[in-house]
Amino acid sequence: MRWIWIFAWLSLTAAALAADEVAPGVALVSGGAYVLSEQPDGNSVLFDAPGGVIVFDTGRHAAHTRKVLDQAAAMGQPVVAVINSHWHLDHVGGNPTIRRAFPAVHIFASAAIKGARAGFLAKYRQDLFAEIAKLSDPVQKDGLLAEIAIVDAGPALEPDVVIEASGPRTIAGRTLDIHLERNAVTAGDVWLFDPKTRVLLAGDLVTLPAPFLDTACPRRWSAALAQLERATFTTLIPGHGPPLSRTQFAAYRTAYDRLLACAASKASNDACGAGWVRDAGALVPETDQKAAKALIGYYMEASLRAAPEQLAKLCGAP
Ligand SMILES: [Zn+2]
Repeated sequence: MRWIWIFAWLSLTAAALAADEVAPGVALVSGGAYVLSEQPDGNSVLFDAPGGVIVFDTGRHAAHTRKVLDQAAAMGQPVVAVINSHWHLDHVGGNPTIRRAFPAVHIFASAAIKGARAGFLAKYRQDLFAEIAKLSDPVQKDGLLAEIAIVDAGPALEPDVVIEASGPRTIAGRTLDIHLERNAVTAGDVWLFDPKTRVLLAGDLVTLPAPFLDTACPRRWSAALAQLERATFTTLIPGHGPPLSRTQFAAYRTAYDRLLACAASKASNDACGAGWVRDAGALVPETDQKAAKALIGYYMEASLRAAPEQLAKLCGAP
């Protein structure tokens, strides 16, 4: 139920923005800003590589994936590779569309989606059907049916090249430092650093206006943020939200660690939500503060202060 209700009123949508060039040959298709009653798209980033276009994350909604394909067309090359940061539907939902458009494409990702399809996503699908049975608004029903259709794409969401370890990889003639974190946001999170432009793609290891902790191990996420900091990036593209400088990322990391410390203290959920907004400072503009506090309030119970057995499952071996 988690994603259904929380994103029914707090969510991101594809904004009517064209792609932004974040560095020469690197374009960002933004997942958009917060609006009501839509489920989010993650940010997508395209590399204009010597052997074709590399796409990092494909979005959820058809309109977002369309923008990704339009940007690839503007680069004048076929999409030859997709890299998924993690299996959440706002990052892999466009995989089947890209596969249809470019049947020779290779999709790189961790193997975590297999476990997710058998567990989290199967349960999510059941919850969606239960929710549809309660709805009368056809537009809302269509939104949930579209969500079920993504889950039902099944194997078309999965990678054909499984990322099992960190290290440099040359894809389409471009060498990228690919990193795998286990049991942080999901069981397998991929982030990458492009040494040529010093752009870092964080996936949902960095999300604004708040960390999205639905399937996360909070403490291992913190350890992953320390890994990001070691990369010599100048620009970091989060999974949701605008590009960050190193200074802004450092503020995010500090705010994240303070949130964990707050959750471990006797402070109230509301106090931790207010603390997140205070510590994140300018990263959470005033228009997003209410949403950020509500998200943290939700995650305090659902994740940060969840039962030890639940966290042990998400965190894996110590
Ligand atoms: Zn996301």
